[in-house]
Amino acid sequence: MPAESIRVRGLVQGVGFRPTVWRLAHECGLRGDVRNDGDGVLIRVSWVAPADPAGLSGFLRRLRDECPPLARIDSIERALIEDPSELADLAHTGDFSILESAGTDVHTWIVADAATCPACIAEIRDPADRRYRYPFTNCTHCGPRLSIVRGIPYDRARTSMSAFPMCPDCAGEYGDPADRRFHAQPNACHVCGPKVWLTDGEGRTLDPGALGAPDAIEAASRLLAEGRILAIKGIGGFHLACDATNVDSVAELRRRKRRHAKPLALMARDLDVIRGYCRVTAADAALLESPAAPILLLERLASDGPRPIGDEWPADACPPGVDERPADLAPDVAPGQTSLGVMLPYSPIHHLLLSDWDRPLVMTSGNLSEEPQCTENSDALGRLGGLADHLLLHDRAIVNRLDDSVVRVMAGQPRLLRRARGYAPTPIPLPPGFEDAPPLLALGGELKNTFCLVRDGQAILSQHLGDLEDAKTARELERTLALYLDLFKVSPGVLAVDLHPDYRSSLIGRDWAARDGLPLVRVQHHHAHLASVLADNGWALDAGPVLGILLDGLGYGSDGTLWGGEFLVGDYLDFARIGHLKPVAMPGGTRAILEPWRNLYAQLECAGGWASWRARFAGLEPIERLDGKPLHILRTLIGRGLNAPLSSSAGRLFDAAASALGLGGEVLTYEGQAAIELEAMAAEAMAVVGDGYKFARASAPSGEILDPAPLWDALLGDLSTGRPPEQIAAAFHAGLATAIRELALDLAGRQGLSTVALSGGVLQNRLLLEALTGGLERSGLRVLLQRQVPANDGGLSLGQATVAAAHALSGTLEASAGMDPAATKE
Ligand SMILES: [Zn+2]
Ligand SMILES: [Zn+2]
Repeated sequence: MPAESIRVRGLVQGVGFRPTVWRLAHECGLRGDVRNDGDGVLIRVSWVAPADPAGLSGFLRRLRDECPPLARIDSIERALIEDPSELADLAHTGDFSILESAGTDVHTWIVADAATCPACIAEIRDPADRRYRYPFTNCTHCGPRLSIVRGIPYDRARTSMSAFPMCPDCAGEYGDPADRRFHAQPNACHVCGPKVWLTDGEGRTLDPGALGAPDAIEAASRLLAEGRILAIKGIGGFHLACDATNVDSVAELRRRKRRHAKPLALMARDLDVIRGYCRVTAADAALLESPAAPILLLERLASDGPRPIGDEWPADACPPGVDERPADLAPDVAPGQTSLGVMLPYSPIHHLLLSDWDRPLVMTSGNLSEEPQCTENSDALGRLGGLADHLLLHDRAIVNRLDDSVVRVMAGQPRLLRRARGYAPTPIPLPPGFEDAPPLLALGGELKNTFCLVRDGQAILSQHLGDLEDAKTARELERTLALYLDLFKVSPGVLAVDLHPDYRSSLIGRDWAARDGLPLVRVQHHHAHLASVLADNGWALDAGPVLGILLDGLGYGSDGTLWGGEFLVGDYLDFARIGHLKPVAMPGGTRAILEPWRNLYAQLECAGGWASWRARFAGLEPIERLDGKPLHILRTLIGRGLNAPLSSSAGRLFDAAASALGLGGEVLTYEGQAAIELEAMAAEAMAVVGDGYKFARASAPSGEILDPAPLWDALLGDLSTGRPPEQIAAAFHAGLATAIRELALDLAGRQGLSTVALSGGVLQNRLLLEALTGGLERSGLRVLLQRQVPANDGGLSLGQATVAAAHALSGTLEASAGMDPAATKE
């Protein structure tokens, strides 16, 4: 009796893979068994006929075609079984069975939390189903994972479901391979599972019946319809919610949350509701409905194209496919934006809450501005009680905080801007050449922190943790790190950090390396961005150098100055700086990051001197505005080089241009605000501005310099002759893209390179990214962009990890770890 073993590698544990194998084997008439082990899933099949039966090839085809939704098959390897004792063992099997996992090194990779699947949604909507309106309904194909796990092996006892013993009905489903809930660890129902309840702002439980509602979720929905603000406990944290079309509610939510300008995310019941407000392509719809269910940035719709927030709909115009004019969103939802961040419901709580809503809800993270999101009921009452009129709470603990992920489609592909719920901790396979990388840990940056573990040729990135300047977030980094080291059984032999000596993540890495005697690789910020985009695109370890264009706010440079508009030639191992934006002072240091007008002043001072600009453009709004500032102090700072560090930052250049157009206000209220507003202003005018404003070029020992000086002349001139600000904003974007493209072509030609890698937070700007990518590709260059990890500092840890791995694999670890610019500076 012939037999084969079939080894399946990938994300195949804890995702309903064995029951699928079991079902397909039965349907294809195969006998044998399936089990989890340390390498994935092992299937053994036998058959009676002497030849390979049609059943086996059909089985293997269907295994790929009918792979469970949360599984990922990386490889399938087949081998004939010839060992007589194993054949004899199989011969006793008359059927096909699921075996218990064997061996001590068996562990289940934790997969990401997944949005409620269609079968579970149907159950909670079916009055005849035992899970009708049950807000924690889930199955093997959906539901919480990382958000509830405390340790491994991944079973119910090590999750926050341990407090809820399964009732006989649920236990029956759990044990039945033919059931959708076979081994679904969070399986629950009305009888045995977690419950929701509603409280007022002081934590007093409210009776839904007194509010005329059958249950707490229905009551919450009615309170929202009355204009109240609710805190809602979800999967990975709390949201603050209100009716997005209620002007007063949205304004009040902003006031209480102290979030003044940053756009608020929306949740809508279904795609049809979203289509009333946004342009939704088929690819957008697929992303919104994917198990990750991210916030997707969508172009805001009007009958004749995107319309600014707050504009009225033309009386007789409805977007295609929408029968009725939808209620207008409150102008405060996303002031000054032509796009909206929208998501679909991703847990049964959200589906039930939104079932009667034909307009979107604001669903913004449950926190005060910049603090991490709440996860615990008591914490929520303390911190959100004053922000929300009511709280919709439940008694399943959130073990791991997970923010909503954010995705934007740019240059034809979805690109992660924030990688958290639904994506983390799914491993990202490292490119060819990294298979034998030692276990290591990269600690990421300071803002938008993530960390990255390397194991078995895979990169495991943490979810977005946030800004480490916040002490709560920094504590959470250490706690989350301990969990990941346990979950993925990694004992790092190498540590990687940013070159910046004062990042909290750098300090943690430095202390750890000193304590355990581990090599510490300090990776220059923009080199890490470059390596990140290479790894994101599967660029092989030995594939050679590329031209990197790295545009961001700030990163610590190899020369101790601040970089942020960089042209590097490099690979994973090494890099050289061959070009950059002209360094301009940041008068006031960190205050220049918050106050964009300081950068406008510094740019003008650098481009010929403030006095001449003031004389030429007297009376022009931005000049008048600057004139009212304490410029003599700034001049002194710049002149003496006191608290006015030079920086080649692309982000600060955007701030200056935005300030010239009156955007960003006196003080920014969130990171990137000025650049985001400038992009929104430019969006409609890109087609009419051609190559945009000119930059100058110069050569210096540090590389080729792009000097923005000429653009100020053109920009202020245009302002004084009344050119529409939309066109000025667009000419800035187009000019920057043109200047970068021309320098890139020049540098690539000189270096003999045909591939350009783009990364850095400034490249979350769709207009710049697409203008740049299009121009470079038309010139015959191959362009690599980030996809799976953010171009912002959330992607740094992947880059640091691959740089450290490359050093470990090439035997240069000691040399690179010995490098300590911070020490040599002292
Ligand atoms: Zn389900
Ligand atoms: Zn139950």
